[in-house]
Amino acid sequence: MEKIAIVGGGLVGGLLSVYLAKRGYEIHVFDWRPDIRKMKIVQGKSINLALSDRGWLGLKMAGIAEQISPVALPMYGRLMHDTKGELTYQPYGKENQAIYSVSRGLLNQSLIHCAADFERVHFHFEHRCTDFNLDDNTLVFQTPDGQNTIGPFARILGTDGAFSAIRNRMMRLDRFEYSQRYLSHGYKELEIPPMPDGSHQLRKDCLHIWPRGEFMMIALPNPDGSFTCTLFMGYDTTPGFNNIQSNEEIISFFSRYFPDIMPLMPELVDDFNNHPTSSLVMVQCAPWHYRDQALILGDAAHAIVPFYGQGMNCGFEDCRVLNELLDQYNDDWDVVMKEFFRIRKPAADAILELALRNYIEMRDKTADPSFLLQKKIEAAFSAKHPDLWNPLYSQVTFSHIPYNEALDNGNRQEDIMKGIMAMPEIESKWNSPEIEKIILDKIKS
Ligand code: FAD
Repeated sequence: MEKIAIVGGGLVGGLLSVYLAKRGYEIHVFDWRPDIRKMKIVQGKSINLALSDRGWLGLKMAGIAEQISPVALPMYGRLMHDTKGELTYQPYGKENQAIYSVSRGLLNQSLIHCAADFERVHFHFEHRCTDFNLDDNTLVFQTPDGQNTIGPFARILGTDGAFSAIRNRMMRLDRFEYSQRYLSHGYKELEIPPMPDGSHQLRKDCLHIWPRGEFMMIALPNPDGSFTCTLFMGYDTTPGFNNIQSNEEIISFFSRYFPDIMPLMPELVDDFNNHPTSSLVMVQCAPWHYRDQALILGDAAHAIVPFYGQGMNCGFEDCRVLNELLDQYNDDWDVVMKEFFRIRKPAADAILELALRNYIEMRDKTADPSFLLQKKIEAAFSAKHPDLWNPLYSQVTFSHIPYNEALDNGNRQEDIMKGIMAMPEIESKWNSPEIEKIILDKIKS
């Protein structure tokens, strides 16, 4: 069977190696880090991610969803905290629909364990890819023992994240298109520790948001009783990361904007000082493949901002779609790589657009009564007419329709809702037959 190199044993590389091993390929996974299975993952101190239906389907079709379930905590809605500590709850979808909080480290460990169950998957840790040779499909690595050229491989799959070395090599090819942008906002992770008895200090069945207009904090629960919080904020804005320097400034900022959680974060000042402020990068490029020799997937092909909680989900969907195309075209990689790029590129562009929009929605609009009313109207209409209206959030999070179709549908819905929200006395008649009829007419027209 063909020998395939997967460069990057992160989330997408881990899942992809399971899919391809199941197809019978001999897989070599290279990652520059040491073996993550030997690392102790401290929850609350590492990023956690929201895993939703697209990600679950990717895991399920690879046959490993059950191995991941034990480390996933369901979150059924958003709980918004205002500056007075007042709470507003908004369900994410229908009853029992949830997104799931998972620790990135634990998930990555589980994926590598699943892949390692196959004898034909070989891991090469502490191998930093620095180049690949297009002529003979060999890879160049920096290892603790020096530089090594390994291969040739029948295919090279780059799942080496937003700063992909495989993409870097493809960028030197004629007519390769590439754009990299940074959001003017960055993020910092903080922690709410568990209660002494190991229970959670806040509700654990929802994602907590502190929307503050130009910035926001979110918190996702961990199974050990802690929460991982992420503060998203501008660098040079006021307030902004570059303007909060001294311990007094940290305390004053949190007392003013997050008074309800300050008492829950005893290590706040140390955490704020010691944890890095990280940037948020967006990458778009084309094409994603070089002939039938190399293909990039996941963040290597389409790094997006995290505000729809879809980067990893989109990467897992990449793996599932690639596997389906391999089924459909009998492992003819020439056709499969072209088809994969044709189908997935518009989807990846759409989820980037949706994620950028969702930042504004989360940090600003979730505190806006008119926005909350609009969501209530949509939910009520959708409950009565599920075939006619699936809210955009549900299309992205709880369905598998391509992201680009979801974006188009969402734009049409938004046009309709603009008209409805502009109607006089909408606050009192939002749930009336009159409003229902107007929406029905607009959909039909
Ligand atoms: P990575 O996870 O970046 O993995 C790349 C792997 O390649 C790593 O193991 C790395 O060590 C290795 N590597 C890199 N370069 C080399 C090299 N030269 N040689 C060898 N190995 C190399 N997504 C969601 O779906 N839900 C969320 O809630 C969510 N929240 C997020 C919150 C934040 C703050 C951020 C920043 C992202 C979030 N994401 C979320 C996005 C998600 O983290 C990424 O989309 C996902 O990690 C992409 O997986 P990947 O395997 O493509 O890349």
